Amino acid sequence: MKETATHPNMEKIISLAKRRGFVFPGSEIYGGLAGTFDYGPYGVALKNNIKSLWWNMFVDLRDNMYGVDAAILMNTKVWESSGHIEGFSDPLIECKKCKHRFRADHVQKKPKKDAQGKVIEGEDVWTCEHCGTKNDMKEPQQFNMMFKTHAGASEDAMTVYLRPETAGGIFMNYKNVIDSVHPKLPFGIAQIGKAFRNEIAPRDFIFRLRELEQMEVEYFVRPDEWEQAFDEWRIRMHEYADIIGIAKDTLHELEVLPEDRAHYSKRTVDFEFDYPFGRKELWGLAYRTDFDLSVHEKSSGVELKYLDEATKEKFIPHVIEPSLGVDRTVLAVLLSAYREDDLGGDKRVYLAFPPAIAPVKAMVSPLLKNKPELVEKARSVYKDLKKVIPQIMWDDNGNIGKRYRRQDEIGTPFCITIDFDTLGETAELKDTVTLRDRDTGTQKRIAISDIARHITDVL
Ligand code: ATP
Repeated sequence: MKETATHPNMEKIISLAKRRGFVFPGSEIYGGLAGTFDYGPYGVALKNNIKSLWWNMFVDLRDNMYGVDAAILMNTKVWESSGHIEGFSDPLIECKKCKHRFRADHVQKKPKKDAQGKVIEGEDVWTCEHCGTKNDMKEPQQFNMMFKTHAGASEDAMTVYLRPETAGGIFMNYKNVIDSVHPKLPFGIAQIGKAFRNEIAPRDFIFRLRELEQMEVEYFVRPDEWEQAFDEWRIRMHEYADIIGIAKDTLHELEVLPEDRAHYSKRTVDFEFDYPFGRKELWGLAYRTDFDLSVHEKSSGVELKYLDEATKEKFIPHVIEPSLGVDRTVLAVLLSAYREDDLGGDKRVYLAFPPAIAPVKAMVSPLLKNKPELVEKARSVYKDLKKVIPQIMWDDNGNIGKRYRRQDEIGTPFCITIDFDTLGETAELKDTVTLRDRDTGTQKRIAISDIARHITDVL
């Protein structure tokens, strides 16, 4: 994809993310570990804001939504019953020469041409991405992506799996939620948590990871109400994208073909985003029917039916699942927010995050750090503001211009500077500060007593 103001290439994002403390390669000093990344101070703040907005919108502000936080390790029967042990796999191919392994459905084949340059029908050329060997691979085989480990200290310790999706933990708590809070249909159970997938080829920064985080809802409905619920969640997902700064024209719905759907799904819509490496899945929305509760009821022998108190009817609810990867969301948000422009004749980079997800809402600084009276006043403004808006930062390093540029690069919407006018050098400006806007770089004066209200209004 051509580089534009809103679509930087990946190198720029990866380098900004590292330089400014958003995302670092995992275990870096030992050469890293493929498919793992660590979030730094601003990355974790951004991620937490993204998650709490999701929780707020999908749980707290709705009726009949309940949260859970289930254990990552679960009884192996959960995954046997759900079909993951048998079917949670991707097709794998191996280059016979260099033994490198690839995901067969991600491998690019090119049509073979004759001497005149005409395509020879039915003959494709596969070139190993690693060593360049042509058409010399083993037959594709299925590779199960679940990470195995052992629970217990004995020799015959039980094999357990790290969950490959958070949904399993939600289905395990469906009965607990029914028995403890007695929700009426339709209702949903939400969870945010880690999931693990032994991806054949982790790649594209935090797009395809082996350790990832998901925000998932299992929304339980009457069987004949699934279509209506499905459409409602489609709208909610677009609304969420809008709030976190993902532009409408970069998000596309893809109706997944039956042969490409997961084994449990009767309808799936992928929400695809225009990444620099192509249009790829950001989130998924699936109609899981009554598949999960039915198989768990059958395998466990525990009844998982819902009793309608009014009609005395008993049935297994159907499920709509909006599933959002946190890491892919962070990536899409970083790409969407990235801007380059000229400000006062200088090139600058800034992240135009919507203020609600910006890791730092405002930076407070004294114009000069070697003037104790400025520092003292700035410290008191900072202390008071931090009580109302905790994501506030103090910065007195380098000159003021450098401080602004640093804040631009981490997407801080406001910078507050305490100068001599604040102290009363110009009498009518006493107890006012300059408030700088990230996107325009313009500054205005505002009374100290108005700063908190001004920022919270924008949030
Ligand atoms: P893909 O086709 O890209 O492998 P998937 O269809 O297997 O993805 P789902 O099983 O639908 O993905 O998972 C739900 C969401 O979890 C995805 O939409 C994505 O946001 C996130 N996700 C899945 N796999 C990964 C991964 N390896 N790294 C980061 N996020 C992931």
